[in-house]
Amino acid sequence: MTSVGNSGQGGHQKPATAARMYDYYLGGIHNFPADQEAARAVIERSPLIRTIVRDNRLFLARAVRYLTSVGVRQFLDLGSGIPTEGNVHEIAQAEIPDARVVYVDIDPEAVSESLELLESNQFATAIRADVREPQAILDNPQLRKLLDFDQPIAVLLVAVLHFVEDNDEARDIVTTLRSALVPGSHLVVAHATVDELVFDQSLLKKTQDVYRRQTATPLTPRKKSDVARFFDGFELVDPGVTWLNRWRPDPDTVDVFKDNPEHSSFYVGMGRLS
Ligand code: SAM
Repeated sequence: MTSVGNSGQGGHQKPATAARMYDYYLGGIHNFPADQEAARAVIERSPLIRTIVRDNRLFLARAVRYLTSVGVRQFLDLGSGIPTEGNVHEIAQAEIPDARVVYVDIDPEAVSESLELLESNQFATAIRADVREPQAILDNPQLRKLLDFDQPIAVLLVAVLHFVEDNDEARDIVTTLRSALVPGSHLVVAHATVDELVFDQSLLKKTQDVYRRQTATPLTPRKKSDVARFFDGFELVDPGVTWLNRWRPDPDTVDVFKDNPEHSSFYVGMGRLS
C-alpha cells in the first residue's frame, strides 16, 4: 500500500473524510492532517470511539465468518473503507478461496488502496460509488463481472448508513438492494445510535458538528426501531438487532463492552432473505 498518510506532501489541503478519520481511529497511516485534526476532535468528545471502531471490525469479521459457514460465497461491501486488518476478502477467502468480494466506497483513497491490495486477486475488486445511488452500483459492469445475482449475495452496510441523513432515503437504499437479491442472500448492518446515550447530549452534538463541518458526510445516529426497519423483508438471524458486542460474541475474545453494551453506541444485525 502507498504510504500517503501522515507525511503526505500537500495533504493538508485535503478536507477531512469519514474514511480517513476512521483509518486514524484504527491507528492506520492513510490519513492527512485535516483528518487527524477532525478525528482528534471526535476522540475528545467521544472518548470511546477508538474502542468502538475496533469492536466494529471484530463484529464485521464474526459476521463474514458466519456467512461463509452458511455457504455464502459472494459479498458486496458498501462503505468498505480504507483496507485495514481483517478485510472482508481475507476472512471470506480464508474459508472459500474463490469467494467473490466487491468493495464500494465514495472515498477515492479507500478505493485506490483497496485496488492496490487486490491487484493480484482475481476474485475481488473495488469501485468508487455512492451508496445513495444503489441502482447505479447494481448496474456497475465491474461489479456484474464478479457477482452473480442469480446466487446468494451478502450485502454489508457496516457503519455506513449513519452517513445517510434522511431516514426514508436510507430505507429506500436497502429496499433497492434487497429487490436485486435472490433467497439465501443476507443483509448485515452496523449503525451508530444514541439510544441509552452514555455521553451528555452536548458532547454528542459536538461530535456530530465535527462531521457536519469538517467532512462531506454528516453523522446521523438512529434508534433501534429505525435500524430494525432496515431488515423489513428479511428474516433476522439470531440474536436479532442488538448491541455491537452482543452479536454472536467470540468466547475467545475479550468483550470490552461486557457490562455496558450500550457504551458500544452501535446496533448491529443480520437478516436472511427467504
Ligand atoms: N465498513 C467499514 C467498517 O465498518 O470497518 C468502514 C466504515 S467507515 C466508518 C464508513 C465508510 O463509509 C467510509 O469509508 C466512507 O467513505 C464510506 N461512505 C460514507 N458515505 C458514503 C456514501 N454515500 N457512499 C459510499 N460510501 C460512503
